[in-house]
Amino acid sequence: MQVHARGVTKEGGSFEELMIERRDLQPKDVLIEIKYCGICHSDIHTVKSEWGEVDFPLVPGHEIAGIVVDTGSEVTKHKKDDRVGVGCMVDSCQECVNCKNDEEQFCKKGMTGTYGATDKYGEKTQGGYSKYIVVQEDFVLSIPDSIPLDVAAPLLCAGITTYSPLHHWNAGPGKKVAVLGLGGLGHMAVKIASAMGAEVTVLSHSDDKKEDSMKFGATHHLNTKNDTVFEEYNETFDLIINTVGAKLDIDQYLGLLKVNGTLVNLGVPSDKMELNVFSLIGRRRSYAGSLIGGIKETQEMLEFCAKHDIGPEIEVISADTDKIDEAYERVINSDVRYRFVIDMDTMK
Ligand code: NAP
Ligand code: ZN
Repeated sequence: MQVHARGVTKEGGSFEELMIERRDLQPKDVLIEIKYCGICHSDIHTVKSEWGEVDFPLVPGHEIAGIVVDTGSEVTKHKKDDRVGVGCMVDSCQECVNCKNDEEQFCKKGMTGTYGATDKYGEKTQGGYSKYIVVQEDFVLSIPDSIPLDVAAPLLCAGITTYSPLHHWNAGPGKKVAVLGLGGLGHMAVKIASAMGAEVTVLSHSDDKKEDSMKFGATHHLNTKNDTVFEEYNETFDLIINTVGAKLDIDQYLGLLKVNGTLVNLGVPSDKMELNVFSLIGRRRSYAGSLIGGIKETQEMLEFCAKHDIGPEIEVISADTDKIDEAYERVINSDVRYRFVIDMDTMK
């Protein structure tokens, strides 16, 4: 079927109204009417070709929330009218050791990204800035009743990307966690880490968001433009979650970790980052990375957010192309409070 979408047709281009093709329902497929889709900074890196060449036209969007409108003959996990979500993956081999361990994001054959990838049918995937999407049922999440669909959308990327490392590195009571960058991912990291019981500090490159940091559950907001922060908070944190998508002086941040502390990079700058090995060995510190989370863990994160009554702060925008362009500019300028979400009912 042909469906309405918003995408970019050339590098550095603005958003345009497009029509894209969605495949016919296969036995295990679910057809979803997309109600909302969040704007992740990864969408921006991608359409600007900051991570490498892009095959245009490209329809971004991997924070999808909607309603099931039809199911294939063998679908058992979802039914018509269910409230569902789709994140950054729409398929994987489901057979390799990593898939079997419920970490499809690390599929040995490569998971199929929600947009900009080639699926097993040889077709290019296109993302959630569109009216409908067809997804294999195992990659479709159930959204708990208490979470409104617009609020649920950003959980499918920003939520799971921060929940997974916080869970893996045991954020909880007695742990001091710092969140670097208070944007879409960062503000979810603050809410989730504090719901897990950790003491949370925000490391931001201004004082502008101080009040918000406290509102989201942090106990401190430090302005990293102020160099004394790095002396004063030397060897303070057990875990630092870095959500900044720009190149940083990693050694400076490693100095903030206690013995055995870990700095996890979630941000994906296009430039290589360097570090001095002495920053690690002197205190047995680790520098790590983390990529979204598996499907099982994503469902667990949704239940966790429902139980703790937490979700993203959203600004809902229409699907007008100039509104999407404007939102991109604001995200680039760190002027997002804290996730833009596109209302697909406004899409014609
Ligand atoms: P975002 O909403 O733009 O937030 C990033 C925040 O980083 C900004 O709000 C700002 O916070 C801070 N920042 C931006 N530029 C900076 C600079 N030059 N120096 C210092 N701080 C700066 O982005 P997002 O959607 O949260 O995504 C963040 C990064 O994570 C992106 O690179 C994205 O591609 C990546 N990502 C990774 C995964 C994964 O699986 N690992 C998943 C999703 C996204 P302050 O104003 O508080 O400083
Ligand atoms: Zn994302």
